[in-house]
This record gives sequence, C-alpha cells and structure tokens, in this order.
Amino acid sequence: SAALEMRGISKSFPGIRALSDVDLVVESGEVHAIVGENGAGKSTLMKILAGVYQPDEGTILLGGEETRISGQLDARRRGIGMVYQELNLVPDLTVAENIALGRTPSRFGILQRRRLHEEAVAVLEALDARMDPSAILGSLTVSQQQIVEIAKAYALRPSIIVLDEPTSSLSEHEAQALFRVVRRMREEGIAIIYISHRLREVLDLADRVTVLRDGRQIETRESKGLTAGEMIRLMVGRDLTDVFP
Ligand code: ADP
Ligand code: MG
Ligand code: MG
Repeated sequence: SAALEMRGISKSFPGIRALSDVDLVVESGEVHAIVGENGAGKSTLMKILAGVYQPDEGTILLGGEETRISGQLDARRRGIGMVYQELNLVPDLTVAENIALGRTPSRFGILQRRRLHEEAVAVLEALDARMDPSAILGSLTVSQQQIVEIAKAYALRPSIIVLDEPTSSLSEHEAQALFRVVRRMREEGIAIIYISHRLREVLDLADRVTVLRDGRQIETRESKGLTAGEMIRLMVGRDLTDVFP
C-alpha cells in the first residue's frame, strides 16, 4: 500500500474554505510535488499531515492503516518529517548538535558528544551532503543550513518527508545541492512531498504533481510530459499564453 493516503480532506477557517475534498496518495520512493498559487491550500494540507491542524472531514492512512495524527510529536513518532521554509535551527550550535536537536530532549541530553558527531557524519554521508559536522551552523551558507534542516528531519528515519518551499531563498545553483539530497532520499524509498513555486524545478524533480486551486484539487498526474505553461494554466484556471507565450 501507499506510504500515505489522504482521502477527502476538507478544512475551513473562519470565513474561508481552505481545502475541499482533497485526495493525496504518495508512494514510497516517489517525489510528489504540490503546486498552486499563494493561498491555494498547500501548507494547510501539510499542516494536517503534520498534526498541526485536524481536518474537518477526511481520513489519513499511513502504510495502509487509518491513522489519527493527534499532534506534531505524534506525527514525528509516526515517521512524518517536516521541513518548513523557515529555518528552525540554532546558529550558535554545530551542525551535529543541530541535527541531534530533532530528537526528543531526553535523548539529546544523554547523547555523548562523540556519539552525536558520529551520528551526524553517518546522516550527512547517507545524504551525500559534503559538510563538516563540527562547523558552527551560523558560519554556513543559507543553502547549507537548509540541508542541515533536512538532515535533522532525515535523522529520525521518517517514511515520509515534506519539504515546504525549501528553495525559496536559494539561487538556482544553490538549489542543485538540495536536489541531490532529495534524490538520495528518494533512492532510499522515502515518500517525498515537495512544495514549490518554481515550476521548472518541479518538472525536473517530481514524479507526480498535484495542482491545488482555491482549496480544490484540480489535477494529479505524472510530471512526465507536463510543461510549465500547462501547469500555470491549471494553477490559475485560465490560459496565460497571451502573457507567457
Ligand atoms: P498556500 O500554502 O497554498 O499558500 P495556505 O494553506 O497557507 O495556502 O492557505 C490557504 C487559505 O487558508 C488561505 O486563504 C489562507 O489565508 C487561509 N489560512 C491558512 N491558515 C489559516 C489560519 N490559521 N487561520 C485562518 N486562515 C488560514
Ligand atoms: Mg502561502
Ligand atoms: Mg504555503
């Protein structure tokens, strides 16, 4: 069965229907992109998966088993790793210490320095990320810090990882290092949900794409053969070839 099935998900906030009857199925070893204009409901869908919000309607199955995700800690325990666009790291700590921060505080407390370093080396190697674990986080570039954020989620051995606009503050060149890490995780069979505004990047990286518009699921299809122009048309609901020929 699929790593993740979200079925018939609806969610309203006062005065706004943020999601209406959305289905999302993601297989192990798949990069599944979610695209849509600002306000389309992408982050809300992921916050439901992460246990931040409860859906008004709908069900979630993890590995074929119906699951209620009661909160963010519960989501983590169930193997859901979240990487938000905003970095959630401590600049004064080392790379290794930041990776260990993803663990529960008690485990962090008893981990010895050497163990912590060894674990970070293993995680960074598994991700093919070239980085010194004893470097102070704040001395790294933003793209390296973003990779540490991913490594922190990956260190918990999740079966699903959500990346919410991970490249929004990166240059095209910087983003390439991040894509390498994403592809490594896919090879390992992790189900990856990838949210991005950058459509060429989505077409390059994703196996399938789901398009949301005004909280509704407009399309889910293989990215192969899809063009950026077609995706824009699905996202905004009209043909923009007069604007972007
Ligand atoms: P996206 O991530 O695609 O930009 P969001 O999921 O953040 O979209 O938002 C979808 C809609 O829900 C937007 O209209 C947004 O203003 C609204 N929304 C999101 N979170 C909240 C909230 N906590 N309270 C009220 N409205 C919200
Ligand atoms: Mg938004
Ligand atoms: Mg968002």
